[in-house]
Amino acid sequence: MCNENEKIVGLRAEVERLRKELAEVREQLAAERQRRTELEQAKGSAPAPTEIAETPVVITEYEATLRRVVQRTAMIVQAEKCVIMVRDEETGDLVACKPAWGMTDEEVRRFRVPPDVGYSGEIYKTGKPAFLEDASASPRARLEQLHTYGVRNALSVPLILEKRDENNQIVDRVTVGVLHCFNKRFEDRFNEEDLRLLERLARNTAAVIANIQIYMQVVEEKQKLAHTIESLSAGILLISPDGRIAQMNAQARAIFQIPSHLDPIGKPYQEVIRNEQAIAILQRKMQELMNPSLAESHSTPVEERAQQNEITITDEDEDQYIYQVHAALVRESADKLIGTVFIFNDITDIRNIERMKTEFVSIVSHELRTPLTPMKGFIQMLIDGLEEGWLTKEEQREYYQIIQENVDRLSRMINDLLNVSRIERMGAAGIEMNWEITDLRKAAEVVVNTQKGRTDKHTLVIDFEPEHIEVETDPDKIQNILQNFVSNAIKYSEGGEVRIIARQEPPSEEFPQGSVRIGVKDQGIGLSEKEIKRIGEKFFRSDNKKVRAVGGTGIGLFLVKHLIARHGGYMWVESELGKGSTFWFRIPLRQPKQDEVAKAS
Ligand code: ADP
Repeated sequence: MCNENEKIVGLRAEVERLRKELAEVREQLAAERQRRTELEQAKGSAPAPTEIAETPVVITEYEATLRRVVQRTAMIVQAEKCVIMVRDEETGDLVACKPAWGMTDEEVRRFRVPPDVGYSGEIYKTGKPAFLEDASASPRARLEQLHTYGVRNALSVPLILEKRDENNQIVDRVTVGVLHCFNKRFEDRFNEEDLRLLERLARNTAAVIANIQIYMQVVEEKQKLAHTIESLSAGILLISPDGRIAQMNAQARAIFQIPSHLDPIGKPYQEVIRNEQAIAILQRKMQELMNPSLAESHSTPVEERAQQNEITITDEDEDQYIYQVHAALVRESADKLIGTVFIFNDITDIRNIERMKTEFVSIVSHELRTPLTPMKGFIQMLIDGLEEGWLTKEEQREYYQIIQENVDRLSRMINDLLNVSRIERMGAAGIEMNWEITDLRKAAEVVVNTQKGRTDKHTLVIDFEPEHIEVETDPDKIQNILQNFVSNAIKYSEGGEVRIIARQEPPSEEFPQGSVRIGVKDQGIGLSEKEIKRIGEKFFRSDNKKVRAVGGTGIGLFLVKHLIARHGGYMWVESELGKGSTFWFRIPLRQPKQDEVAKAS
């Protein structure tokens, strides 16, 4: 009788427990339904253009499916815990999948073993189910520390995916993971009946896991591709056959200045792209692709053809950018057209350099010719004067001096040009140096004396602290640097003071040997912020009319920058348009010894 009573109490407890479980499942189903509705709604509204929205959706669906599987399995075999392990493609380990039943997320995260280690590894490796009567007594279970997850006993089966042929014959079996059920409820043990149930469940579960994995892989690949396209430095635009935008990456959105709140996908391209030149090119290219006979004939000159495929876009700062447009048809199959893809490459720099080179050639030819005119004139005067006997000794010396100055100017220019090509080939290291400890003040005085003769509107001032600073340099090169700065200061100001400043600086982390900071300050035309950024660029000359009015090649500061770098130093500019500029540079007082250089590299 007593026995009967106990059974009834036990059954009541069991019914109560099942009721609770049912309530839990209902709650979860309701929550899941709610989440799905929310997701559907979220899918319906357009995602923000920069987001790639699939990840959270897929992961939530994946988690919901797994949760259902582990929950159902735990209920059927009456296990306290149920967890699925799959092989991690990257590490090769068997890893527990989130969510698990009866395990915390932290426990799941921790639960991973190499595929041939421990109890889980054994099941994965052999493809055979296993019982674990007492986890604390099993060496294999201890190996993967099952007891730390509160595992007392277990029933586990491999998740095997069977591939069948058309006659339903198994042609291949792949173990994709392990399904663990831990701790039979009511202090009981798992039995053969549980094993049979679990094996039947496992077949289904393996297929579910495999499908999820394939789906996740496809989604991941798709996302990787989407992220790659999104982050390309070229602009990508895909227009579907009905003229709507099917893809537009971040760079394309930036090129056409699409506001961030506007999602261009699905909109007619003429509505989104508000640049007539671009629309005309897109239209023409689409027509040409659909009807190749319309394409530009090869007899059109190359430059003209190139220009027809370029668009120029001016941004809010009035900066102009040039993009080269390539187009191609995208087909899914021979008769199914997905659309036309356009690639926009920024060729602004290339075009600028080409323009600068052309300008440079005409400037250099002009600059090279300039000294020739006085040379020719004075040589003729010398010939005539000597023949006709009217030339005094004084005049002769003066004419020869003028010729010599112009020869020097010519040879300086030719040297500069040769140095540019050396630097282009070998960088700053291409500059040969005759290192010598030099008094900076002496170099500055030579420069002041030379430059003084070229202007009567400027006052040249030497402002050194201390008066004499000894620096390891090549005396010719340091003079070259100062000559460039001072002659620019004179050239690009109508008058006023030109101050050569030098300050000796104590040793610092950057310059353990100590350094000297040198600046040439003028009260001239100054530079805009944009121009400052371009100082030191090869061939750079400001568009300022006052600059264009004076001769120059735009290579002086390019050379200077490399000469300073050859000392292990650097240059910078402080300037304000209309007020004046200071061209600064800093170089170390001493050069590191050659063995130190070797060690450092
Ligand atoms: P160049 O003087 O032959 O043009 P540089 O390389 O010496 O070439 O200088 C490049 C450009 O930098 C100049 O064309 C000018 O636009 C600008 N620049 C250089 N020095 C000054 C200065 N002191 N004040 C204003 N602009 C300057």
